[in-house]
Amino acid sequence: MTSTHLLFNTAIGVKKPESIRNKNASCPFCARDELTDIIDTDDSIILLKNKYPVLENAYQTVLIETDDCLSELSLYPKEHLVRLFTFGIKHWLDFQESGKYRSVLYFKNHGPLSGGTIAHPHMQIVGLHDIDYMENISPMYFEGMNIHEENGVTFSLSTKPKVGFYEFNVKMTHLDQIPTFASYTQMAVHYILNHFPFRANSYNLFFYRLDDAIYVKVVSRYVTTPLYIGYSIPQVPTNLERIRKDITSKYFE
Ligand SMILES: [Zn+2]
Repeated sequence: MTSTHLLFNTAIGVKKPESIRNKNASCPFCARDELTDIIDTDDSIILLKNKYPVLENAYQTVLIETDDCLSELSLYPKEHLVRLFTFGIKHWLDFQESGKYRSVLYFKNHGPLSGGTIAHPHMQIVGLHDIDYMENISPMYFEGMNIHEENGVTFSLSTKPKVGFYEFNVKMTHLDQIPTFASYTQMAVHYILNHFPFRANSYNLFFYRLDDAIYVKVVSRYVTTPLYIGYSIPQVPTNLERIRKDITSKYFE
């Protein structure tokens, strides 16, 4: 049976630590000795079961990206970046291939407008038992203006964004393309946090599998427009070409 809505367990939700809102609360991901239900590690990267599984009919895990609480994906040296993407994508695909889930989400929240609650850099891999996330995803969300292409990996700016405004897409077709895929993703994040004409302090990464390709969508987050909330109408900014030129000049020239 396929569902359209995911149940959120409010009793577990209220117990979550409020590390972002309460700066004095200690970071649960820095207390490495106290972490339990660890699934796998690679260097400072840890995959473990989510201690606060608020979603029903789901298997929730947390991927702690680094032991540096104040670091950020846009700052990682290339070696760590590639190690992180290799580790995360491998586990995401393993979850899918286990056959236990209808579909598997792999995403990252960063910043107060992203939906994240813990500041320590982390991602999430979530197996859904009765929802296929692709039912809500159209191939047009990955169409865009080409920014750069290398080693068969494409980096583009969405012309039909899913929610609206600035969404970058990175596409690869083979796992040996991960180094380029990871670099483009990092550039999009770095651009959003540092150079954006409308600089954002929040972003999300969302990974997808579509037609034998792997995509990541890098979404800059603002307050969501009422037209999207009320009517599901995404808005496209008229300055996309300017943004495409700007990011090209800053990272590729
Ligand atoms: Zn921390």
